[in-house]
Amino acid sequence: GISRPDLYFVSAYQFHHIAFSRNDYSCVRAVPPPGCSCAAESARLPSRVPASHGHRRPFHCHNRRKRDHHLTPHGRAVRHVPLVAMHPVHVGPHHAASLRCIGGPATSASPPAASLRRALWASARAASTQSNGGDLGWCASGGRGRRGLLTLCRGAARPVQQQGGRGRGGRESSPGRGGRGRRGRGGFKLREYKVSDGEEHLGSALQYLAKREFPGPPPDTGEPLRVLPIGGLGEIGMNCMLVGSYDRYIVIDAGLMFPDFQDLGMQKILPDTSFLHQWRDKIEALVITHGHEDHIGAMPWVVPALDPSTPIYASSFVMRLIKRRLTEYNLFDESRFHVFDMNQPFNAGPFEVEPVRVTHSIPDCCGLIMRSEHGTIVHTGDWKIDETPQDGLEFDRTTFEKLAKENVVLMMSDSTNVLSPGRTVSEKVVEQSLMRNVAAHQGKGRVIVTQFASNVHRLYSVKKAADAAGRKIAFIGMSLNHYLDAAHKDGRAPFDPRDVIQAAELDDYDPNEVLIVTTGSQAEPRAALSLASREASHMLKIMPTDRVLYSAKVIPGNDTRVVKMLNSLSAQGATVVQGRSENLHVSGHAYQDELAEVLQLVKPQHFLPVHGEYSFLCEHAQLARERAGVQHTSVIKNGTMLGVHSLLSRNQFGKTSSLASVVGEANLVNFYNDGNKGTGTAQEMAIAERTTMAFEGMVVLALDINRAMGTNLAARCRLTTRGMWTDQGKLLAELYDVAEGVVGRMSRTASLALVERQVIDAVRKACIAFNNKKPEVICIAHEHDPRVAHVPEVQANRAAMGEQARPAPSSRGIEASSGAAARPWAQARMPVSRAPARIPDEPSEGEQSAQGDNPSEGEQRVQGNEPPVKEVALKQQLLDASKRARASRKTASHATSRRTAASIGIPGPPQQPLPKTVLEQRKQANPRDNVNKENDPDYG
Ligand SMILES: [Zn+2]
Ligand SMILES: [Zn+2]
Repeated sequence: GISRPDLYFVSAYQFHHIAFSRNDYSCVRAVPPPGCSCAAESARLPSRVPASHGHRRPFHCHNRRKRDHHLTPHGRAVRHVPLVAMHPVHVGPHHAASLRCIGGPATSASPPAASLRRALWASARAASTQSNGGDLGWCASGGRGRRGLLTLCRGAARPVQQQGGRGRGGRESSPGRGGRGRRGRGGFKLREYKVSDGEEHLGSALQYLAKREFPGPPPDTGEPLRVLPIGGLGEIGMNCMLVGSYDRYIVIDAGLMFPDFQDLGMQKILPDTSFLHQWRDKIEALVITHGHEDHIGAMPWVVPALDPSTPIYASSFVMRLIKRRLTEYNLFDESRFHVFDMNQPFNAGPFEVEPVRVTHSIPDCCGLIMRSEHGTIVHTGDWKIDETPQDGLEFDRTTFEKLAKENVVLMMSDSTNVLSPGRTVSEKVVEQSLMRNVAAHQGKGRVIVTQFASNVHRLYSVKKAADAAGRKIAFIGMSLNHYLDAAHKDGRAPFDPRDVIQAAELDDYDPNEVLIVTTGSQAEPRAALSLASREASHMLKIMPTDRVLYSAKVIPGNDTRVVKMLNSLSAQGATVVQGRSENLHVSGHAYQDELAEVLQLVKPQHFLPVHGEYSFLCEHAQLARERAGVQHTSVIKNGTMLGVHSLLSRNQFGKTSSLASVVGEANLVNFYNDGNKGTGTAQEMAIAERTTMAFEGMVVLALDINRAMGTNLAARCRLTTRGMWTDQGKLLAELYDVAEGVVGRMSRTASLALVERQVIDAVRKACIAFNNKKPEVICIAHEHDPRVAHVPEVQANRAAMGEQARPAPSSRGIEASSGAAARPWAQARMPVSRAPARIPDEPSEGEQSAQGDNPSEGEQRVQGNEPPVKEVALKQQLLDASKRARASRKTASHATSRRTAASIGIPGPPQQPLPKTVLEQRKQANPRDNVNKENDPDYG
């Protein structure tokens, strides 16, 4: 899981001697409630801690041993959770819990953190209202841990509630909505789960970033026609553009972009919806050109960003795709969505919009002609010219020809294939090639075709090839079903979806009678063909007699893994047919000759290339000047507003040679979505943190701090690493020594926050020295006996350091104390809690329960966003205090303190680092013997 970290660290504290009211679960007093069986135990603390209450496992890592099943009743499910750690400290029926969430959207309002926290509290409350005497248990329910809900529950325990999976965080879900495993194999059952209730997937996507002006000149001045690309210029994907006249705009398309490898754990990149939301009063319509993900994929975020009255226009097939998508997000409102027909103008904002038919690689695509009193703008959408399209709907040359007479002011056109000379071939050519290839394999086994699921035209070709060879079509890959179903309902399908053989029935057919269509042409790790190539698919097993026809394009960036996939298919004996010369695929985007042809047809006054990398846009502008004689071209980037005026109104705008000028810049950000509900900026999605964990690894330490003996602190340390090379455990041994050494040198009055910070610093340095790695280090220190934390000496020290005046912590506070010092950017997402500090003997507010704090010691923690100067002063004070203490108690020997520790039943840590020679000896022997076995999660 470390390569796509989605990781939660949960720390649960339990206190005997702090009681909670049953109603609001807030801290009310510092004595056990009457009848509590832990009352007797707490009287003896810290001399003995009841082992039966689980204290012997102060730190517990759940994705490991089955033997820990009393803590992991659902071991199988828990294994899917990348890392969950919990350390019950003292055990009783009352619990306080704190939560740190790493590698996810960690604002307290974000769904994962909030639902985890809710779950923790719910189960803690459930445990406190039941009788005493059970272990705490964890279970992660739901099909997949990644989406599933973590539930803390009591006893050897059944889960508090059975969840249906699929990220229904903390809510009841209907029984039928089971995890993936429970669905029938490959049945043609379309998934009908809701991704969101309409809001919970939005994250921070609609929150304004401070002080963003709308670009452009003051109202009613400057060039009348305006274009402001939000996405799609400078990248292929994320198409979204504001087009307007003066201060009235419409949005064209709302697409997403698929991230590449470096955005670990992210699945979608979205255009700046917060900008759209901020200026929604200027936006009067959303018009969609076609149904590809890079044009409709961001709609679940863009639609809520617009005003609820803003109409949305699309053609009928596209509207079916949109409807399905938005229904999943609970956002489809029939009254807002309007289907348009080709060449039937409709009014949208300041424009009269006429959709014009273009051909592309998905049905029902259009370009847009936008007419206004200040001139006409043409947006081609994605297009190519297919003279013989499979669905018979040809590229509307006539309308484009007519535009020449209209004196189009501005034209925008698709730049995807501007580097390819010549023309695209027709889908008919692909059909012939497919027929040839299928016929060549007659009587020799199965034919497997892999293609883009949305390419319904290709299914026409596949169907014809299958018919000619007497084969039946089978689908493996749900998205094929989705697109075919939408096309069928819209009367555009090449065949009835009910005629498709289901994957589960494949075995009933003679290999010579089937033609399998699969997804996974880009070797997406979980797609059908990719799984089959790794022999990991239960639906598709490659046979040596198979012929695989690669009927798709390798999208740049996927090359390596596609080659790898095709290699392993070949290695399993299948014949793989691919390559341009085979004509098994044709692009949906126009080549140079087509681009030039349409520019010549329309003869725009001004040309703006869109839909491409920046160099493609420049190339396209050059092509327009050289081959189509367009005099005025512009190349702009996302966020740049271009103002354009008509040639006819040139006098009005002075004698400038250009018809267009940059009239403003918008400061835009991208949003990221993790494939579920998590949405936010790169910072909020913790992409940097994910990268650190993936490439550097992580270290987790738990410290049980004992102040009861000696002049210095004593600590029991437990640690573990993830994603790190430990040299057979040597790293663990070294870090263990380092951590205990650091604590052993600190004054017994040092605050927990300081302990954590110093240990983190030391461990970081040790990791760099060990193998030049800079892992994410998490340290959580807790009082062995919270009462000792309030002895006058410690309190006085704390008061001297001004800690009482600091805000009470929340789980965020813990995050701050353990991590933020090293990551200044993390502070931005840690609002300071405004609750006052509390003294444990006093009653306190109910909000404590909502935050899930550790009420007794947590409040002493230091918020991470205090000024560093203070921190230095604090350190100095502590050092002084510890020096004074040491001087006054010089006689207390190391041996004595260790004996003291032993006599109270706690293994006393060394108070000073061991001599070098001892360390050397340790390392020479089996390193595993030297590590406290409980500390090593791998032991046994
Ligand atoms: Zn596109
Ligand atoms: Zn497209």
